[in-house]
Amino acid sequence: MKYDYLIVGAGLFGATFAHLANKRGKRCLVIDKRPHTGGNIYCEKIDGINVHKYGAHIFHTSDREVWEFVNSIVPFNRYTNCPVAQAPDGKLYSLPFNMNTFYQMWGVKTPCEAQDKLEEQRADAVARMQAEGVSAPRNLEEQALTLIGKDIYEQLIKGYTEKQWGRKCTDLPAFIIRRLPVRMTYDNNYFNDSYQGIPIGGYNRLIDGLLEGVEVKTETDFFADCEYWKTVADKVVFTGKIDEFFGYRFGKLEYRTVRFETESLHNPNWQGNAVVNYTSVDVPYTRIIEHKHFETFGNAVYDNPKTVISREYSSEWQDGMEPFYPVNDSKNQETYEKYRQLAERESNIIFGGRLAEYKYYDMAPIVAQVLNLFK
Ligand code: UDP
Repeated sequence: MKYDYLIVGAGLFGATFAHLANKRGKRCLVIDKRPHTGGNIYCEKIDGINVHKYGAHIFHTSDREVWEFVNSIVPFNRYTNCPVAQAPDGKLYSLPFNMNTFYQMWGVKTPCEAQDKLEEQRADAVARMQAEGVSAPRNLEEQALTLIGKDIYEQLIKGYTEKQWGRKCTDLPAFIIRRLPVRMTYDNNYFNDSYQGIPIGGYNRLIDGLLEGVEVKTETDFFADCEYWKTVADKVVFTGKIDEFFGYRFGKLEYRTVRFETESLHNPNWQGNAVVNYTSVDVPYTRIIEHKHFETFGNAVYDNPKTVISREYSSEWQDGMEPFYPVNDSKNQETYEKYRQLAERESNIIFGGRLAEYKYYDMAPIVAQVLNLFK
């Protein structure tokens, strides 16, 4: 065999795996069907700005080892995600749900006042669940109503979630909304993690650093000749879609995809923030990203007279599109479980990443998982 590892997919899982294996003297070949490496963290430079071509990526973790590892490849900046949301009532609200949001929504100024208001807002849903003898929220709507109450659910969650997932909140798993913190302080930091940031110079530096010294073939599709590719290495690391790997024999897993409408504008500071969510169902996109704010802070944004924005439109994935978010409802989980059992029997193949594990992973847990594999 020519290689120890054939790594299918040059995204974060594949690139981190290749890096660590290469450091241990293993012969690796990375193949990717796209014309570039990096998977969905790949950035394209437009007007001197790193544009997150496949959607905004913000690295965040509380795992010091992961943070130090990625910073050893490329130093990260101090970007802190503080998105705002434009609601159906036409007002702007701070995210995640915190004292600023509660003040904007109800005029409450102290955590005690906000607690009282939240309790009042949650009361109906809590009583309904008790009456039905339900102990844990059965879906995203119940989770949101018991966590944050009616007004915020209606203004900031329902429309956004139904646009993003193309499904009713009552048909979605509760865990999706548990990603968002509820905070009784005036703190607009979207993440609770100890560390967050963007690689200085953009994500391509991270991927290029990870893949330094590793043989990579882009525009090379594993599925064009998978029998051949399986013969080139002792082991295969597969980071593509698990259902495709097994020839869709149990049916197709569902994904959401995102279409981006990217525009370059003669305006140095178009929306004043990297992320603005649009939570009304009447606005067709879910959010607008202004990419320069990920890497340029304060009035330094005026140094470049131009800006690049992307409107994100979410839709159901179909063949030929890029899969973004696994739809982890019970129907899909059952199908995935069948594929997972098949995967377990493949002793020479490691399945990893968002698509191969059909899991709504953030970036840091992917890095952590690969670091652990090598321990
Ligand atoms: N969400 C919401 N309103 C918002 C932002 C997020 O209801 O303004 C919900 C929505 O259901 C979404 C989930 O929170 O799917 C997770 O959002 P996050 O921003 O973490 O998603 P990502 O950045 O991964 O797309």
